[in-house]
Amino acid sequence: MKKIEAGSLYLKQHRDLFQCPICKGDFEKVEGHSVVCANGHHFDVSKKGTLHLLMKGGQNEYGKEMLSSRKNLADTGFFFPLLDDVYAHIDKPESATVLDVGCGEGSHLHYLTEKGLKGAKIGFDISKDAIQLAASNFFPDAFWCVADLAHSPFAESAFDVILNIFSPSQYQEFDRVLKPGGKVIKVVPNAQYLIELREQLYALDATKREYDNQQVVNRFYDIYPDAVSEEVLYSVALDAQSYSWLMEMTPLSWGASETALANAAANPLKSVTVAVTLLVATKAI
Ligand SMILES: [Zn+2]
Repeated sequence: MKKIEAGSLYLKQHRDLFQCPICKGDFEKVEGHSVVCANGHHFDVSKKGTLHLLMKGGQNEYGKEMLSSRKNLADTGFFFPLLDDVYAHIDKPESATVLDVGCGEGSHLHYLTEKGLKGAKIGFDISKDAIQLAASNFFPDAFWCVADLAHSPFAESAFDVILNIFSPSQYQEFDRVLKPGGKVIKVVPNAQYLIELREQLYALDATKREYDNQQVVNRFYDIYPDAVSEEVLYSVALDAQSYSWLMEMTPLSWGASETALANAAANPLKSVTVAVTLLVATKAI
């Protein structure tokens, strides 16, 4: 089946997971390769089987090269231990309906699918390039769409799990789209995350070298006082290739001086620390 056909069929079967981002009404039907709401707003499925649900042009702060590097690095297993931990928190993976918020180029949801997520899955991102890459590489894993949580195209009480991995949050919206008893699983970097790279790039600049997630964690606990948290810490061995992918992937390199970048290129790191906090909250029943 062509991707556009498969995408349209998915929408027919899972129309109830979405709402019109313009009027917030239900999508009433799928006509050909378009989904249509009660007020006649149309959204067309693309050739790649994706849906573009943004009101205006998306932000593309992450370029294609950066997204490809992230995929390449993800393929090496860079994130697997932390994703294994995420997976362990998903109840009934064989049937859970999952929304991956800010899914990027789709590698995380792909890995979790390989591990055993078998329910309906939607990955979305505000970046069109990211969604195109996700649909190119991981089409059957999930329905991929370009969307913005601020103009949410997702239906109320539709999801068992929200994945929020290294991406911004909108808790009010999470709460609205989660089913009662559903879970938010958020991953945030810790102070030690990529510490070797911070030290290499910002040896002379403590404000850029240091990172503190306390505000983010505190905010999560303000919203979800019964949340649980877990720290995941491991070291990843790097070779010249994976090091260059890491450098291309991370926003850390954006603010570094030419000298620091040249020094880094001449002295590739042999390993790097992955240190994150997993925050898990359950919506009241
Ligand atoms: Zn509408």
